Amino acid sequence: MSLAYTTEKQFAISAVRRACLLTSSVFNKLVKNETLVKGDKSPVTVGDFSAQAVISSMLHRAFPDDPIVGEEDAADLRAASGASLRDRIVELANEALTAELGIGDIAEWGIGPGSEQSVDNLLDAIDRGNHEGGRNGRMWTIDPIDGTKGFLRGEQYAVCLALIVDAQVQVGVLGCPNLPLNLSKPDEDKGCLFVAVRGQGAQQLKLTGADPIPLTMPPYTPSSFSFLESVEAAHSSHSTSSRISAILGLTQPPIRMDSQAKYGCLARGDGGAYMRMPTGVGYKEKIWDHATGSLLVTESGGVITDSRGLPLDFGLGRTLGDNYGVIATVKDAHAKLLSAVQEVVKQEQEEAKKSKAS
Ligand code: AMP
Ligand code: MG
Repeated sequence: MSLAYTTEKQFAISAVRRACLLTSSVFNKLVKNETLVKGDKSPVTVGDFSAQAVISSMLHRAFPDDPIVGEEDAADLRAASGASLRDRIVELANEALTAELGIGDIAEWGIGPGSEQSVDNLLDAIDRGNHEGGRNGRMWTIDPIDGTKGFLRGEQYAVCLALIVDAQVQVGVLGCPNLPLNLSKPDEDKGCLFVAVRGQGAQQLKLTGADPIPLTMPPYTPSSFSFLESVEAAHSSHSTSSRISAILGLTQPPIRMDSQAKYGCLARGDGGAYMRMPTGVGYKEKIWDHATGSLLVTESGGVITDSRGLPLDFGLGRTLGDNYGVIATVKDAHAKLLSAVQEVVKQEQEEAKKSKAS
């Protein structure tokens, strides 16, 4: 019996790995004028654009009919002012596409020596990520560099790719070039791939694609349990999570790290819970920020919901809809965590009411 999504899984590993090699090499060469500021003020670099160009042009070859929900678009690059950035992106994307084939790579995906693409093809590949999402059919979602701020600091970031079918994530791959294979040995080997297929479990591999190990979250152990949360307080309220931690009587400090690398860490047993508590009203979480991570959680023995205990809905479009935060942890801890979250949310609502009244 053949397993479902075998080709998609191997493809996603190959595409993410190639994009990771690109982003690592970009980091070493990044110069100031290769960063521009998007409307929402998040830094976006040549790395984001060229990584999306690589993954998206590979997808076009491997699965030409599948739509793509990608974070970036090429509008800034098509403008006259984007010319030097565009040249750099084309150079980097082609360097990555034409690199030698590695474990599991297939030349028909448009990779390996001789696979250069034209400027227009690469810009079109970036723009192919403009799909609106929705409830029906297959679609891929790409976050070419999740945690751009971590990337720019030389800390954690992730290249993320997931296949969603009828609003359910079926395959997810996360590449974390700066993440130690073992968090307690930060000076040893770095570079992890996390892979999950629905119903088939989750694995960690080296960035080369070698040495897969199955991932299972350990049971809830209060003495070693801690929260994995954003470095950026604007992305997840540190004060809310510290109140939740106090209610649970946790003694370990939070592990702060950028990007979906947090989900990979959670799946392999670091920390204990992924916490993302809203910092205000109005922000809608993007599907590419949680698709791969959510499958890693459920395939390693965890539960992921919003702060009300409701499942994340990947069928609403490019976002997860109204933002009520994200919490994820091992199955036997989820109810406890949820009730502590709800207690704190209630406290904060009452405090806000009081301060409005006074
Ligand atoms: P993290 O590294 O976990 O903090 O997540 C990085 C992601 O946070 C980025 O890719 C953004 O899409 C997302 N983000 C940006 N603004 C916010 C916000 N106000 N609340 C939550 N997430 C945000
Ligand atoms: Mg992101």
